[in-house]
Amino acid sequence: MITASPLSSQQPPSEDWRRHWRASVTDARELLALLDLHALADSLPADDAGFAVRVPRGFVARMRPGDPRDPLLLQVLPQLAETAPAPGYTTDAVGDMDARAAHGVLHKYHGRALLIASGACAINCRYCFRRHFPYGEEIAAAAGWREALAYLQTHPDVEELILSGGDPLALSTAKLAELTERLRELPHVRRLRLHTRLPVVLPERIDDALLRWLDGIDLQKVVILHANHAQELDAHVEAACRRLRDAGVTLLNQSVLLRGVNDDGDALCALSSRLFACGVLPYYLHQLDRVQGAAHFEVDDARALDLVTHMRDRLPGFLLPRLVREVAGDPAKRAIDRP
Ligand SMILES: *Cc1c(COP(=O)(O)O)cnc(C)c1O
Ligand code: SF4
Repeated sequence: MITASPLSSQQPPSEDWRRHWRASVTDARELLALLDLHALADSLPADDAGFAVRVPRGFVARMRPGDPRDPLLLQVLPQLAETAPAPGYTTDAVGDMDARAAHGVLHKYHGRALLIASGACAINCRYCFRRHFPYGEEIAAAAGWREALAYLQTHPDVEELILSGGDPLALSTAKLAELTERLRELPHVRRLRLHTRLPVVLPERIDDALLRWLDGIDLQKVVILHANHAQELDAHVEAACRRLRDAGVTLLNQSVLLRGVNDDGDALCALSSRLFACGVLPYYLHQLDRVQGAAHFEVDDARALDLVTHMRDRLPGFLLPRLVREVAGDPAKRAIDRP
């Protein structure tokens, strides 16, 4: 069970987005009731299958009431299938515990270091590896980023700093600014990359203070969003993306290929088109990490390749994401090709 809580009482009152976050739906039965799906309550797993429900109300509003197959609902609703044994599905599917370079720092790939900036997320996605990660001990922002900065100091080959998590935008803007202030002393770090789902699931997070911070930092800035279906990208998300671009941010998106959610050629094409309308380019289409509780979302590689072929035959090349899988010990994400 994830225990990291967004309900910190020490946050400045100006951070209005936290009010929306606190108001999230955290009860599966309430979620079903909001969508006129009361009957499904009987098939919920006990104790949310060990991973709490969390979904912002703005995201719920994009779901179709009365549709038990809604692609947004399926990403957040606990299922009995999560509790079924699945051989080969583990609690550390991507070898993160082995790649730990310093407190909250993962350094797997050349030139890029990744900080587990925060253990919190605005949404709990059922397919996420995070459902098993011992975040309690592994947050880079704890103790003023000290260990992460010390690591970067002794690794001048790191050109790009990736803030991930959890979700780095779950931190206060002041906490993020504390880091980038210190990065001025490390001129070898030229790019700052944020992996975040917040602009999609809680666009209120893209507030003036955040934009002022982004606009004011003297680094190349990349934000990698995480959206899996065009239906996630409503007018609020589009506006948040526009604001990020106006602050000098390059916007990319990664998706996870999920059975029942987006394993459909036309749905994937629609996602790419909708992303571009929001000023975002598709980057990766990930094959699922084999984490315990997520096996029912898996799409096999042969079908994944068919879906990519369907997209390739319909979309301009720049709207085609790369199909990849993360393999522990590899020097990069592994491209999935025809055998
Ligand atoms: C995925 C990942 C990256 C980024 O890889 P890119 O191919 O550059 O997007 C960096 N570090 C870690 C530990 C990762 O898991
Ligand atoms: S937002 Fe990302 S890190 Fe957080 S639960 Fe969803 S997939 Fe996992």
